[in-house]
Amino acid sequence: MRARPPGGMNGGSPRGLSLTENHRPFHQQRWGPDPRRQQRRQMGNAKKKPKLKEHIIQREWCKGCGICVAFCPKSVLELDDNDKVVVARPEDCIACRMCEYRCPDLAIEVVVE
Ligand code: SF4
Ligand code: SF4
Repeated sequence: MRARPPGGMNGGSPRGLSLTENHRPFHQQRWGPDPRRQQRRQMGNAKKKPKLKEHIIQREWCKGCGICVAFCPKSVLELDDNDKVVVARPEDCIACRMCEYRCPDLAIEVVVE
Protein backbone atom coordinates (compact mmCIF):
# COMPACT_ATOMS: atom_id res chain seq x y z
CA MET A 1 0.00 0.00 0.00
CA ARG A 2 1.19 3.54 -0.78
CA ALA A 3 2.31 5.62 2.13
CA ARG A 4 -0.01 8.52 2.88
CA PRO A 5 1.49 11.92 3.63
CA PRO A 6 1.05 13.20 7.15
CA GLY A 7 -2.28 14.96 7.49
CA GLY A 8 -4.06 13.00 4.79
CA MET A 9 -4.17 12.99 1.01
CA ASN A 10 -5.40 16.58 0.70
CA GLY A 11 -2.55 18.30 2.41
CA GLY A 12 -3.49 18.53 6.02
CA SER A 13 -7.25 18.85 6.41
CA PRO A 14 -9.42 15.87 7.31
CA ARG A 15 -12.31 17.48 5.38
CA GLY A 16 -10.37 17.56 2.15
CA LEU A 17 -9.74 21.34 2.15
CA SER A 18 -6.20 22.58 2.34
CA LEU A 19 -5.80 25.95 3.98
CA THR A 20 -2.30 26.51 2.67
CA GLU A 21 -2.69 25.41 -0.94
CA ASN A 22 -5.91 27.10 -1.95
CA HIS A 23 -7.95 23.91 -2.02
CA ARG A 24 -5.87 22.17 -4.66
CA PRO A 25 -6.02 18.39 -4.66
CA PHE A 26 -2.96 16.59 -3.44
CA HIS A 27 -1.53 15.71 -6.87
CA GLN A 28 -1.58 19.41 -7.89
CA GLN A 29 -0.01 20.81 -4.78
CA ARG A 30 3.29 22.58 -5.03
CA TRP A 31 5.83 21.78 -2.40
CA GLY A 32 8.14 24.48 -1.20
CA PRO A 33 7.61 28.21 -0.85
CA ASP A 34 4.50 29.68 -2.46
CA PRO A 35 5.66 32.01 -5.29
CA ARG A 36 2.60 34.22 -4.91
CA ARG A 37 3.31 34.67 -1.24
CA GLN A 38 6.95 35.49 -1.98
CA GLN A 39 5.87 38.04 -4.57
CA ARG A 40 3.47 39.66 -2.11
CA ARG A 41 6.23 39.85 0.48
CA GLN A 42 8.61 41.51 -1.98
CA MET A 43 5.93 43.99 -2.99
CA GLY A 44 5.30 44.74 0.66
CA ASN A 45 8.97 45.38 1.29
CA ALA A 46 9.23 47.61 -1.74
CA LYS A 47 6.27 49.73 -0.72
CA LYS A 48 7.34 53.28 -0.04
CA LYS A 49 6.06 55.32 2.86
CA PRO A 50 4.17 58.42 1.76
CA LYS A 51 6.01 61.68 2.26
CA LEU A 52 4.19 64.89 3.05
CA LYS A 53 4.16 67.58 0.41
CA GLU A 54 1.66 69.97 1.94
CA HIS A 55 -1.57 70.38 3.86
CA ILE A 56 -4.33 72.20 2.03
CA ILE A 57 -6.60 73.84 4.58
CA GLN A 58 -9.87 75.49 3.61
CA ARG A 59 -9.98 77.99 6.45
CA GLU A 60 -13.52 79.13 5.69
CA TRP A 61 -14.76 75.54 6.01
CA CYS A 62 -12.97 74.85 9.28
CA LYS A 63 -15.28 75.28 12.27
CA GLY A 64 -12.59 74.72 14.88
CA CYS A 65 -13.99 71.50 16.30
CA GLY A 66 -10.48 70.21 17.02
CA ILE A 67 -11.14 66.66 15.83
CA CYS A 68 -8.11 66.68 13.55
CA VAL A 69 -5.96 68.08 16.35
CA ALA A 70 -7.10 65.32 18.69
CA PHE A 71 -6.61 62.51 16.19
CA CYS A 72 -3.23 63.56 14.82
CA PRO A 73 -0.76 60.99 16.22
CA LYS A 74 2.17 63.40 15.95
CA SER A 75 0.61 66.60 17.34
CA VAL A 76 1.24 68.40 14.09
CA LEU A 77 -1.93 70.48 14.13
CA GLU A 78 -3.14 73.25 16.40
CA LEU A 79 -6.03 75.68 16.57
CA ASP A 80 -5.14 79.36 16.26
CA ASP A 81 -6.74 82.33 18.01
CA ASN A 82 -9.58 82.36 15.47
CA ASP A 83 -10.33 78.66 16.11
CA LYS A 84 -9.04 77.61 12.73
CA VAL A 85 -6.64 74.74 12.29
CA VAL A 86 -3.01 75.51 11.48
CA VAL A 87 -0.08 73.23 10.74
CA ALA A 88 2.22 73.98 13.63
CA ARG A 89 4.85 71.27 13.12
CA PRO A 90 4.81 70.06 9.50
CA GLU A 91 8.21 68.42 9.89
CA ASP A 92 6.66 65.87 12.29
CA CYS A 93 3.87 64.85 9.91
CA ILE A 94 3.94 61.21 8.81
CA ALA A 95 1.24 61.74 6.15
CA CYS A 96 -1.09 59.22 7.73
CA ARG A 97 -4.09 61.28 6.59
CA MET A 98 -5.96 60.77 9.84
CA CYS A 99 -6.79 64.49 9.93
CA GLU A 100 -8.20 64.35 6.41
CA TYR A 101 -10.29 61.26 7.10
CA ARG A 102 -11.68 62.57 10.40
CA CYS A 103 -12.54 66.14 9.46
CA PRO A 104 -16.35 66.32 9.22
CA ASP A 105 -16.20 69.40 6.98
CA LEU A 106 -13.53 68.18 4.53
CA ALA A 107 -11.53 71.27 5.42
CA ILE A 108 -8.10 69.64 5.43
CA GLU A 109 -6.37 67.70 2.71
CA VAL A 110 -2.99 66.02 2.86
CA VAL A 111 -0.95 66.06 -0.34
CA VAL A 112 1.86 63.52 -0.57
CA GLU A 113 4.84 63.33 -2.92
S1 SF4 B 1 -11.54 68.55 11.99
FE1 SF4 B 1 -11.91 69.91 10.22
S2 SF4 B 1 -13.38 71.43 10.98
FE2 SF4 B 1 -12.51 70.40 12.79
S3 SF4 B 1 -10.76 71.71 13.41
FE3 SF4 B 1 -9.94 70.14 12.02
S4 SF4 B 1 -9.99 71.07 9.97
FE4 SF4 B 1 -11.33 72.30 11.29
S1 SF4 C 1 -1.40 63.41 8.07
FE1 SF4 C 1 -1.33 62.39 10.08
S2 SF4 C 1 0.54 63.14 11.06
FE2 SF4 C 1 0.10 64.54 9.35
S3 SF4 C 1 -1.10 66.23 10.25
FE3 SF4 C 1 -2.57 64.69 9.48
S4 SF4 C 1 -3.02 63.34 11.23
FE4 SF4 C 1 -1.13 64.50 11.71
